[in-house]
Amino acid sequence: MSEQIASKLPDYGTITDEITIFAGPCSVESEEQFDEVAACIAGLGLRWIRGGAFKPRTNPHSFQGLGEDALKIMKGAGDKYGLMTLTEVMDSAHCAMVHSYVDGLQVGARNFQNFSLLKNIGQVTKDSHKMVLFKRGFAGTISEWLSATDYITMEGNDNVVLCERGLRTFETATRFTLDISAVPVVHKQSLYPVCVDVSHPAGVRDLVPALARAAVAVGADSLMIEVHPNPPAALSDGPQQLTPAQFEDLVAELREIAAVFGKK
Ligand code: PEP
Ligand code: MN
Repeated sequence: MSEQIASKLPDYGTITDEITIFAGPCSVESEEQFDEVAACIAGLGLRWIRGGAFKPRTNPHSFQGLGEDALKIMKGAGDKYGLMTLTEVMDSAHCAMVHSYVDGLQVGARNFQNFSLLKNIGQVTKDSHKMVLFKRGFAGTISEWLSATDYITMEGNDNVVLCERGLRTFETATRFTLDISAVPVVHKQSLYPVCVDVSHPAGVRDLVPALARAAVAVGADSLMIEVHPNPPAALSDGPQQLTPAQFEDLVAELREIAAVFGKK
């Protein structure tokens, strides 16, 4: 990340000074569930917790998220443990409300070319400069992704993190094909920090550690990893979520890899 961008990002810790991981459950399900993950994350000295309040589910009959109740749970846990909170905004009508509860706003893969949503997110964050984590669409080129980023930044907020989360390809062995080369390409073509979401491309938890190791080694500025106290009981994305114990082991390993690459 350039000094120019870094100076604008007081709230964003990069992997260059610590391991920045946006960890947390796929969906916020209850105060107890979220508290358990928050305690784990804070105990590891990490700074951010993620959680879905409005979920972009393929099937409308699937769990859709707790909405504003989830945002209240996130705010409570963030305050209690001193963590910054990140959640996805799916609807322009929700931008102001979501912005009032959390520290970072996520644009999901399914909305990466929803230009009116991107503009609205840019507008709502233009004074606060809250972080916008902008995911690449699973059928989007890097060039389309970087162009779409301008819809956010042209409104006045440069605090954007670009998140690679895997592409739809002919391969069925993984949920999505993680485009690891997107990291150096985006670093070459843009000034924004890059995050790699290793949970959604994996689809199953056994693959998560290998993808996470690769993401650190390839030079990602941050990672996204889903963590749930009881993954088999999760209301969304159970198969890919790590338990707190598994997450703890992985973070220790990633810190060692980051140190090898001269990043602490
Ligand atoms: C998520 O991070 O909760 C999510 C739905 O991811 P994506 O938009 O990458 O599918
Ligand atoms: Mn998920």
